[in-house]
Amino acid sequence: MFKIVSLPGDGIGPEVVAGAIRVINALADKHRLEISIDEHPFGGASYDLHGDMLTEETLEACKNCDAVLLGAVGGPKWENLPHDKKPEAALLRLRKELELFANFRPAKVYDALVNASSLKADILSGTDFMVIRELTGGIYFGQPRGYDDNRGWNTMVYEHHEVERIARLAFDAAMKRKKKLVSIDKANVLESSQFWRNIVHEVHKDFPEVELTDMYVDNAAMQIVRDPKQFDVIVTKNLFGDILSDISGMITGSLGMLPSASIGTTHAMYEPIHGSAPDIAGQNKANPIATIASVAMMFEHTFCMKNIADDIYQAIEQTLASGLRTADIAQPGDRVVSTTEITDAIVANLQAS
Ligand code: NAD
Repeated sequence: MFKIVSLPGDGIGPEVVAGAIRVINALADKHRLEISIDEHPFGGASYDLHGDMLTEETLEACKNCDAVLLGAVGGPKWENLPHDKKPEAALLRLRKELELFANFRPAKVYDALVNASSLKADILSGTDFMVIRELTGGIYFGQPRGYDDNRGWNTMVYEHHEVERIARLAFDAAMKRKKKLVSIDKANVLESSQFWRNIVHEVHKDFPEVELTDMYVDNAAMQIVRDPKQFDVIVTKNLFGDILSDISGMITGSLGMLPSASIGTTHAMYEPIHGSAPDIAGQNKANPIATIASVAMMFEHTFCMKNIADDIYQAIEQTLASGLRTADIAQPGDRVVSTTEITDAIVANLQAS
């Protein structure tokens, strides 16, 4: 029995999570899997009910399941709350409590959308790599931090075990793919990067089959847009990964297409990278593909069922190939459909596969 906790959240969150749950249920029926899905309020929706963005009950449920499926949180209604009460603070706390130290973001091009990118189709076509970003350390968490009238300061710091565990995860991921890992740092300028590089090389000794390359972050930003096909797995620090994973995602699709997985030693959370899109919330217009592809990542990484993950990607590919598009990915001449209609098509393709 697999236990999933769903946190639909705010804005379009409930709409896209509903689509993803239909996919999970269809797969459970088809493969006779026992999957329980337990829904909990999170973000603004929780604040409105309980005066707290992340209640102890929701947190406990997330700690006691196999995988969390999150929609999105936030919106204008909760924008003016104090910083520590905002939905983003609750999201950071949830990631920290679950010790989700690695963020996986695939940069994979769907054939049907190859002409929709800002890059030329021949440069992009065939791109398929994974960005693994360290998520709970580095400059976003280092102390001391602060500012006064004359100075602002942050601390970029990594402990040995923080680098070692993400490096191991990245080498593992590379072993399951084309066995090519690029570690991105700024070791020519930053001591903390030289430290990162040393440890990645130490861990490499346990994975001799993987080809390891070091790359400076400025060069990596250029290489990703110049020749994205050269990459298989990228591993990098929190700050660099924040930026590079957005670039990698955007060259391959729109916000509504991009899934992610945040993984720790004992917990995992799957979520689209987009926000709550208040401008289209409640209109049945949102693209559910990012959330449905997040479910594919759940099947691959948590349930260890790569064949089912591949079926989901194939059902998405077939749906797009049939010409259906939500408004965010439509080109002139495409058939624009609603959240529910595109979900119907993906579910039907899954059932037929
Ligand atoms: P956003 O990602 O919500 O929206 C940006 C633009 O992309 C909007 O025009 C939106 O309509 C469109 N878009 C996003 N997802 C889409 C989808 N699935 N289908 C179709 N169109 C889609 O970013 P924003 O507008 O900067 O933020 C809105 C709210 O979401 C804010 O409160 C922000 O704090 C929050 N947010 C939450 C998360 C999260 O929960 N992980 C992430 C980012 C932003």
